[in-house]
Amino acid sequence: MEMDDHKRRRNMILYVIIAMAVYLVLSTLLFPNLGQRVQINQVSYTQFLQDLDDEKVASVDYNTGDATAVYTLKKDVKDDGTVEAAYETTVMPSDSDLTNRIVDAGATLDVTIPSNDGNAWIYFLIYFSPIIIFLLFGWWLNRRMKKAMGDDGPSMNFGSGGFGGMGGGLGKSGARIVASKDVGVTFKDVAGQEEAKESLKEVVDFLENPKRYEDIGARLPRGALLVGPPGTGKTLLAKAVAGEAGVPFFSISGSEFVEMFVGRGAAKVRDLFKQANEKAPCIVFIDEIDAVGKRRDAGLSTNDEREQTLNQLLTEMDGFDNHKGIVVLAATNRPDSLDPALLRPGRFDRRVPVELPDLAGRKAILELHAKDVKTQPPIDLSAIARATPGASGADLSNIINEGALRAVRQGRTRATQEDFEESVEVVIAGQQRKSTVLSDHEKQVVSYHEIGHAIVAANMKEGAPVTKITIVPRTSGALGYTMQVEEDEKFLTTKQEVLDKLAVYCGGRAAEELIFGEMTTGAANDIEQATKLARNMITRFGMSEEFGMMALGTVQNAYLNQDTSLTCAPGTAERVDDAVLKVIESAHARALQVLKENKFKLHELARYLYKKETITGDEFMTLLKRENPLMPPKPQA
Ligand code: ADP
Ligand code: MG
Ligand code: ZN
Repeated sequence: MEMDDHKRRRNMILYVIIAMAVYLVLSTLLFPNLGQRVQINQVSYTQFLQDLDDEKVASVDYNTGDATAVYTLKKDVKDDGTVEAAYETTVMPSDSDLTNRIVDAGATLDVTIPSNDGNAWIYFLIYFSPIIIFLLFGWWLNRRMKKAMGDDGPSMNFGSGGFGGMGGGLGKSGARIVASKDVGVTFKDVAGQEEAKESLKEVVDFLENPKRYEDIGARLPRGALLVGPPGTGKTLLAKAVAGEAGVPFFSISGSEFVEMFVGRGAAKVRDLFKQANEKAPCIVFIDEIDAVGKRRDAGLSTNDEREQTLNQLLTEMDGFDNHKGIVVLAATNRPDSLDPALLRPGRFDRRVPVELPDLAGRKAILELHAKDVKTQPPIDLSAIARATPGASGADLSNIINEGALRAVRQGRTRATQEDFEESVEVVIAGQQRKSTVLSDHEKQVVSYHEIGHAIVAANMKEGAPVTKITIVPRTSGALGYTMQVEEDEKFLTTKQEVLDKLAVYCGGRAAEELIFGEMTTGAANDIEQATKLARNMITRFGMSEEFGMMALGTVQNAYLNQDTSLTCAPGTAERVDDAVLKVIESAHARALQVLKENKFKLHELARYLYKKETITGDEFMTLLKRENPLMPPKPQA
């Protein structure tokens, strides 16, 4: 990152300046006489004796350790006690008369007995203290910087991050490579995803004993690509592989490569593999690999930096010696955009789909995350799982957490089923928004709109039962909604079910028209959904008479959004539009018809919802089925 490099350089200079200042201050404090140290002259023993005889000596400091004496002359001692010069000589050890001679000469005698190593250590410490302080300071600064850079958990930091206390690491390849010895995640922490785990078990086995594979002559797996929608646990699975095998986990995100200086990306890749090589067996994990691994094209908008990085990655993947047990895992939600060179055998030849969880998977994930939360029985997580088709693992873990948060907000110590149910809605539709105050008329319109959906839904042969209707505004912008939950998981949808669903989408607007004779913007989302569904019916599901089984569109990105692009001639596209319109219109007409037949119930239920704001599916069904004494009984068909 460009900004980061500037900052780091500036910090480095600052650090050196501060360290020098600290050094100066400390050295003047600790060794005040360091700067004005007295010159010590070596003199002969004869000279020393001579000076003594001449009574010129002021003081003698005798060191019994190395039998030396440092002495000063009276003439060198100033009035304020400072000394200008000193003399050192080696004393004859056996000269027992020396003490007398010194005393006779009127000089003061000091004797130093150098002691054991304890003292030597103190000398050593004092002598080196500025350097030690310097190093400690550097280490502290380095740690602080890493913390500021978002380093988390018990991870080792190799080389290139920040700057090391001893200077190393500066000016290497920039961003960090983090290897965690203990990722603390195993397959137990990944619920569902049995197929993905199954195919990753082999990788674990290989990391644990590469020898077995080598002996039989099998080519060892180099890389596996985890593909799936966001939040399905790809990153989690990669960590779990490292955790299961108990090997270091080197991880880097694809976007980190791209943000770097020109040429840095490639250097980074080289670095990454070099370090992995040293720590093998290990896992190298490249998250969001599509950021670097996008298909190289001959177009004008080539990104040289990205291509260099990708080329380096390809080279490294070919080059590393995987007898050592290095496995490269990568994750992406856009496998279709990856460069084919990445996917050829010998690189990411293995593809591990990590799909959105099914009903059983959702339940397992909910149970796993609910284990960490104190709950108040009865808790029925299957009900939550049923209400959340299409939710990812991340969504589900979020639902559990939101439920716990709600309990805390309401001052309770245990989360209840109601908390979790409410948080499903929070995750789907956003928080309740109390600040949105609808006018009386608006509230009525929304009530009729939602009951319109619900009555149409209840009158369809197929389709999920209504479980909840509410007109409490949400932060997502929804002013109300009708929740329908399938009893069981569905993998196929019939044409009739699609048509029924379209009619339910149209029910809201139809009710507004029928009762108020006006249209509001409240149906915008319904219209969008209905149109998308109708278009898919015709272009992808082959459910129209006109086009039959001809595919008219392709899904662009299977894992991100299900957006399709038309692949037909412009003339055909026009006819597709006509057909879509026709399907929606007939669904609208059907909805209107149902509501006309149930107009009385529509009024009754809308008024009820208006009063209560939220009603359950059961309340709705009881009211709907109740015979109204004021109405003549319906003619039996
Ligand atoms: P991805 O990398 O596919 O976008 P992550 O691995 O980052 O998704 O998952 C995000 C979070 O969602 C995880 O930290 C975990 O809490 C939760 N999660 C997702 N899938 C699962 C799963 N199968 N089992 C348990 N938790 C899951
Ligand atoms: Mg991820
Ligand atoms: Zn609606």
